[in-house]
Amino acid sequence: MRSIYENEDRAAFRDTVRRFVANEITPYVDEWDEAGEIPWELHRKAGALGLFGFGIDEEYGGLGFDDCFMRVILGEELSMCGAGGVVAALTGCNIMTGPLQSLAPDEIKRRALPEIMSGESGGALGITEPGGGSDVAGMQTTATRDGDDWVINGSKTFITGGMRASYFVVGARTGDAGLAGISLFFVEKGTPGFTQTKLDKKMGWWSSDTASLYFDDCRVPASSMIGKQDAGFLAIMNNFNLERVGLISAALGSSKLCLRESIAYAQERHTFGKPLIKHQVIRHKIAEMSARIDSVEAYLNQIAWLVNEAGEGGVGEMPVAEICKAKFWATQVFEFVAREALQIFGGAGYLRGTAVERMYREVRVLAIGGGSEEIMRDLAVRQMGL
Ligand SMILES: Cc1cc2nc3c(=O)[nH]c(=O)nc-3n(C[C@H](O)[C@H](O)[C@H](O)COP(=O)(O)OP(=O)(O)OC[C@H]3O[C@@H](n4cnc5c(N)ncnc54)[C@H](O)[C@@H]3O)c2cc1C
Repeated sequence: MRSIYENEDRAAFRDTVRRFVANEITPYVDEWDEAGEIPWELHRKAGALGLFGFGIDEEYGGLGFDDCFMRVILGEELSMCGAGGVVAALTGCNIMTGPLQSLAPDEIKRRALPEIMSGESGGALGITEPGGGSDVAGMQTTATRDGDDWVINGSKTFITGGMRASYFVVGARTGDAGLAGISLFFVEKGTPGFTQTKLDKKMGWWSSDTASLYFDDCRVPASSMIGKQDAGFLAIMNNFNLERVGLISAALGSSKLCLRESIAYAQERHTFGKPLIKHQVIRHKIAEMSARIDSVEAYLNQIAWLVNEAGEGGVGEMPVAEICKAKFWATQVFEFVAREALQIFGGAGYLRGTAVERMYREVRVLAIGGGSEEIMRDLAVRQMGL
């Protein structure tokens, strides 16, 4: 569907990302997914195109501006490579640079952001714990003040980029139980007391690096605190908004790819003497998939407009309820579309090496990560004042 919000800059950006995906990613996704990682060089190539730079000041290597429509284009076009794991491995750092930009002391920004922006080093966000991810306020990792240091103890799990990243933003409890006692910290790989182990054999996102993090009397200087002490919960919640926009965009791009693959296959494949696409049942599937995808796209465009309005110097408010609703809606649509796509492919879709087989396995992570469907519904209703 043609967007009424498309302009010259956004069209040019879409074209850039599309060419990057076609030349640098799509030909290799099967190989990388089977290998379980992407070559680090891809980060440098993405960095050179400024793909990590939205909302980051130019002095730290960022683009010096933000545009939610371009963020959406990025998530959507990258996801059309057909391997969500590649997208997560490449752009996972985008969920930790926001808090660095808006809350970290200048010294930390200078240390980490230029390297992440250029794709030289990776970044990861550590919030989820083995004891639970949905209940962020129940976080159990602690940071205790000792002289000029904070001493962190506890663990995190399911952390995207956890093995390969050099820089981490980590949540830890500095105060009482509950949401008012959480702070954020900047932790570098190699800090004594900080170790990682790889989480292997995932259902999907094979090429994405996922890890557990362990903090055992890990000392960081007091200046490593990001934002105000005990104010981390709000920072985490605010950060979720753009992360979720990214996940909705990924669901949109993945759904579009399923539709595109389905149409191409249905035009090629013949049954009962005619191409699949000429059977009415298949045509109706295509219509239904397309209509649902349009609904996600229209919703997301409206959200992007509202997010831009709420941005720096803007007059609006972050559309939190809409982001939550769009996230569960987009993943439900993706689930439907991936199922229909695989059905259209028949047995061929059950074989590894087809994009729809991979897409089908990658639906659930988008419905769980960054806030599950259940939590999104809860938050949306709470935002309605109920
Ligand atoms: C591949 C992958 C990558 C990830 N990357 C990161 C990352 O980079 N950084 C990070 O911090 N985290 C990351 N996560 C973690 C992710 O955000 C969590 O998995 C998610 O928040 C859910 O937490 P949980 O898995 O502990 O499930 P739980 O919180 O234990 O919930 C289990 C189930 O119960 C439901 N549930 C929970 N509470 C309620 C309730 N009150 N009412 C109804 N239902 C409820 C949930 O919706 C879910 O279906 C990643 C996860 C995956 C799978």
